[in-house]
Amino acid sequence: MKAHAYAALTATTPLEPFELERRGVRANDVLIEILYCGVCHSDIHQARGEWGNSVFPMVPGHEIVGRVTQVGAQAKKFSVGDLVGVGCMVDSCRTCSSCKSGTEQYCLGHLSLTYNSTEQDQKTPTQGGYSSHIVVDESFVLRVDPKLDVKAVAPLLCAGITTYSPLKHWKIGKGHRVGVLGLGGLGHMAVKFAVAFGAEVTVISTSSAKEQDAKRLGAHHFLLSTDQGQVEAAACSFDFILDTVSGSHDLNAVLGMIKLDGNLVLVGVPTEAPPVHPFSLIMPRRSVSGSAIGGIKETQEMLDFCAAKGIVSDVEMIRMSQINEAYDRVLKGDVRYRFVIDLKAR
Ligand code: NAP
Ligand code: ZN
Ligand code: ZN
Repeated sequence: MKAHAYAALTATTPLEPFELERRGVRANDVLIEILYCGVCHSDIHQARGEWGNSVFPMVPGHEIVGRVTQVGAQAKKFSVGDLVGVGCMVDSCRTCSSCKSGTEQYCLGHLSLTYNSTEQDQKTPTQGGYSSHIVVDESFVLRVDPKLDVKAVAPLLCAGITTYSPLKHWKIGKGHRVGVLGLGGLGHMAVKFAVAFGAEVTVISTSSAKEQDAKRLGAHHFLLSTDQGQVEAAACSFDFILDTVSGSHDLNAVLGMIKLDGNLVLVGVPTEAPPVHPFSLIMPRRSVSGSAIGGIKETQEMLDFCAAKGIVSDVEMIRMSQINEAYDRVLKGDVRYRFVIDLKAR
């Protein structure tokens, strides 16, 4: 079927209207009419070819919420009319140790990302959520609780799970001093989750204008990372820092704020790889780690946790035609805190 979409045709041209042929509904698929799609900084990195792996034309978007409009002959998980979500993955090999242990995001075979990737045949391009419809195998589709503000659920599918998963993996909770580096789409969700888990949370930001928001989101403290005095005063004070920064920055300065046996976890992906000096890790014994989104089971757990606690993203709504302007504003740090496209708005 034909879907109306917006695509990047090259890395240097604005996104433009694009007609897309979606595959027919297979036995285990569901057809989803997309209602909302969040705008992740990863969309911009890839649409602009910043990670060096971009294939065009590209329809970005991996924070998708929509309604099931057709169900395949053998699909059992959903019915027509159900509210559902799709995140960064639409399939995986399902046989490797990662897939078998519910961490499909680390699939050792072929991971089919929602866009800028291929289906399991490793040939057919996948295209994302800046579109009217998508067809996805039901195993990679999530249940969304309709009692939440549905448009504000969309960013949970990437920004939410990407911050929830490492906080859970490293068992962050009461008694931990947590720093959230960068208050953007990922960062504001990290604050909400770390606070919900009982940690003492500091937002570490380059933008003094975000201090009030940090407190409103639940953070206990605010540290202006451009103020050398504040950075020095925080030396060796954090158990855990989650780095959500999208641009180049000095990791050695960040590591300096981590205490003995503490951990810096990278989720942000700047274009340039920042150097880490061995002494930043040796004195005092510190770790640096990374984390990618979360598995399907954990994504559902995160959505259920959000439904139980009433947690959603802070969103600014846009129409599809405003996407290029939205990209420019994200790059200026001018979004509070996630743009979400209303696919039905004209
Ligand atoms: P975003 O909304 O643009 O937020 C990024 C924040 O980083 C900005 O708001 C800003 O916060 C800070 N920042 C930006 N450039 C900076 C620089 N040069 N130095 C210091 N701070 C800077 O982006 P996002 O959507 O949250 O995504 C963040 C990053 O995570 C992106 O690189 C994205 O590709 C990546 N990502 C990774 C995963 C994963 O699975 N690991 C998943 C999703 C996204 P302040 O104004 O507070 O300083
Ligand atoms: Zn994302
Ligand atoms: Zn696999």
